[in-house]
Amino acid sequence: MEEDDDVRINVHPLTNNPSAVWSSIWHMQKVIPIHLESPSDAVTPNKVRFVCMSDTHALTHNLNFKVPYGDVLLHAGDFTSFGRDEEIKTFNRWLGTLPHKYKIVIAGNHEISFDPNCENIMQIFNPTTRSANSAESHLVTCLNIIKKPFARFTERHTATSNASQYLTNCIYLEDSPVVVYGIKIYGSPWQPEFGKWAFNLPRGKPLLSKWNKIPDDTDILITHGPPLGHGDLVRNGDHVGCVELLSTVQQRVRPKYHVFGHIHEGYGVTSDEYTIFINASTCDINYIPKNYPMVFDMDLPPGV
Ligand code: 5GP
Ligand code: MN
Ligand code: MN
Ligand code: MN
Repeated sequence: MEEDDDVRINVHPLTNNPSAVWSSIWHMQKVIPIHLESPSDAVTPNKVRFVCMSDTHALTHNLNFKVPYGDVLLHAGDFTSFGRDEEIKTFNRWLGTLPHKYKIVIAGNHEISFDPNCENIMQIFNPTTRSANSAESHLVTCLNIIKKPFARFTERHTATSNASQYLTNCIYLEDSPVVVYGIKIYGSPWQPEFGKWAFNLPRGKPLLSKWNKIPDDTDILITHGPPLGHGDLVRNGDHVGCVELLSTVQQRVRPKYHVFGHIHEGYGVTSDEYTIFINASTCDINYIPKNYPMVFDMDLPPGV
C-alpha cells in the first residue's frame, strides 16, 4: 500500500500530556513484542545486516559485550555525556575500530556542542536559580553518575556548532537522509524539552515541523527520542514519547524500522504490525552500558 502524498499531520490537542493521549488511543493501537535476529545467525547474501545502538554516553570502553558484526551500524544519539571534544574524539576512534562498512550516527540531547542554540546548561546547575523540578534533578543525577569534576564541563561549552567535524569515521545525520545499499535512512536529533539540553523543542508544532522534513520514502527512521507508546515508558508509569512523531510514523512515513533511544528504561523492540520500533539504548537508567545491540536484517532492494 502506498500512502497518500498529501497526508498532513495535525497536532493533537493533548500533545503536552502524552500519557493522556496514550490512554485515549491505546485500545486502537497494537504494541506487539518482537524478537529480532540472533546476531550469531549468518547474514544471507541477499540481506543487509543492521546493528543498532544508542546512548553509549562516553562509556564505550566499558561495554560488557562485543559489538556484533553487521553491514551497517546505527547509533541513535547520546554518544557523549556533555558533548566535549574529547568525548567526541574518543567515540570517533571507537567507531574506527568497528568492522561495519557504514556507521550512521545522530546526536542526542547530551551532544550540547552540536546544537548552536543550546543554552548554557550550567545555568540550571546554579544553586541560586535552581528549583527542584524533575528535569533539573535529572541533570544533577547525570553529573553525579558520570563523576567528573564540575569545572571540566564548562571548558567546552561554546556554541561553535562544528563539533561534528570530529566524526570522521561515520556518516553524521542531522535532519538529513542517506541511502546505503539502496535503503533510505533518515536521522533527526530532536526530542521534547526536558531540562535545557541540546535539540530540545516544545511538543506540538515545533517538533512536528522537524518531523515534516522526514521524506515519505524513508525505510529506516532514526530519531533520538521515542514516539508515543513504543519504548517510551518511564519509571513513574508515564509515557513520554512524542505524539506527533507517532502520528508521522503511522500516518505518513510508514518506515519499516524506527530506531531510537533516549528513554534508557524503554530498551526493547515492538511493532504496530507495520513498523518495527527499536529502542536501542545501550545504557540503562543508571548509565551502565549493559544492553546488547539490536540486530535486524533487511532484504537488499532488487538490483543492488
Ligand atoms: P538522557 O539524559 O540520557 O537523555 O536521559 C536519561 C533518562 O532521563 C531517561 O532514561 C529518562 O529516565 C529520563 N528522561 C529523559 N527525557 C525525559 C522526559 O522527557 N521525561 C521524563 N519523565 N524523563 C526523561
Ligand atoms: Mn541517554
Ligand atoms: Mn513511506
Ligand atoms: Mn537522551
